[in-house]
Amino acid sequence: MYLRWMVRPADGIDLGLWKKVSPAQLVIPVDAHIQRIGRFLGFTSRKQADWRMAREITAALKKLDPDDPVKYDFSLCHLGISEGCNGKDLTKCLSCPIREVCDPSEETA
Ligand code: SF4
Repeated sequence: MYLRWMVRPADGIDLGLWKKVSPAQLVIPVDAHIQRIGRFLGFTSRKQADWRMAREITAALKKLDPDDPVKYDFSLCHLGISEGCNGKDLTKCLSCPIREVCDPSEETA
């Protein structure tokens, strides 16, 4: 997380103070929200939040933006933190911006 703050360009969330490191080199920090939503999105099938999971989720995000894959971290994480996604209360999905590509049944797979 610290690396994300320091390396990603200043955007109101991250600081962009370390300009010699490319954002393309970052690996997403995996907390409980990224672990769960990463599985829902099919970015990983691993159950354990480990380095391999972080690399798999990052590889999937690199398909969307190879130069800055970790820019999605804040938005995805806040689906859990602010929007209350827990994968069990599916009423939350009705207003979720990623509902068309999300499969919360992956939680029990
Ligand atoms: S669609 Fe539902 S399960 Fe998927 S991230 Fe949104 S709230 Fe969570």
